[in-house]
Amino acid sequence: MSVVSLATMTAKDPRKATFTLNRLHKSLRADVGRAIGDFNMIQEGDLVMVCLSGGKDSYTLLDLLLSLQKHAPIDFRIKAVNLDQKQPGFPEHVLPAYLESIGVDYHILEQDTYSVVVDKTEPGKTYCGLCSRLRRGSLYSYAERIGATKIALGHHRNDLLETLFLNMFFGGKLKAMPPKLLSDDGRHVVIRPLAYCKESDIAKYARLKGFPIIPCNLCGSQENMQRKEIKAMLNDWERLHPGRLDVMFKSLLNVVPSHLGDTSLFDFQALEQRRAVRQAPPQFERIDVTELT
Ligand code: SF4
Repeated sequence: MSVVSLATMTAKDPRKATFTLNRLHKSLRADVGRAIGDFNMIQEGDLVMVCLSGGKDSYTLLDLLLSLQKHAPIDFRIKAVNLDQKQPGFPEHVLPAYLESIGVDYHILEQDTYSVVVDKTEPGKTYCGLCSRLRRGSLYSYAERIGATKIALGHHRNDLLETLFLNMFFGGKLKAMPPKLLSDDGRHVVIRPLAYCKESDIAKYARLKGFPIIPCNLCGSQENMQRKEIKAMLNDWERLHPGRLDVMFKSLLNVVPSHLGDTSLFDFQALEQRRAVRQAPPQFERIDVTELT
């Protein structure tokens, strides 16, 4: 459903909009609950630092985690954190106003990574690579400072699939974006509770909830063109063959190393020995039939 038709629906038929919102809330919450359970993402006593960018995904993540927290059989705390990277035109009042309105514990981390990125990036190149690295560094350090035991990011099912194809097409690796990850230095556990959620559901939900979205093009950088191409390719496949993304996503959870070619994951060298064991002929005692007569 397009944004326009959703807006029209909200204006024309508020009851239908409420029904759709409740339905989406229920199914997205179920998806998040399932991902948390499948990957043991949150445990008793955790302090979950939810990284908020001001986009639809991170607002939805925070909203659903707060909702789950109320009914969860375990106790865990949530702290929302936004990194204000000092991009020109960043509306710094928007997130604090929203977070105060919902009464969540939050912190706005201020760090001028924007100037560093502009200064260090060669002309004609996009800022995103360095920008993401600096953002990750700042957020991880802050998580350590406050003793956060989990860092929650708003990546969803489509992000995971896009990353799979990006790595396959441009990196020569069969590697996606995991729902749960130990950081390279081994000090942080990163979780992606939206891993099972469809981007289209999140977009509808965010629209109906009226989250105060902050546009992500303030930095003036070009969106990553390769990711844009992959997204368009996947969306085309889904349009032509509805349900294809569902099936493709299932494949990420159902890997058969013996039918790939990575020798570190499967011992192809030992196949002959296995065959020998399985195909050894049954041992019969020889009987001379002439002795039976
Ligand atoms: S779009 Fe802008 S803010 Fe986002 S990662 Fe790229 S450079 Fe950073």
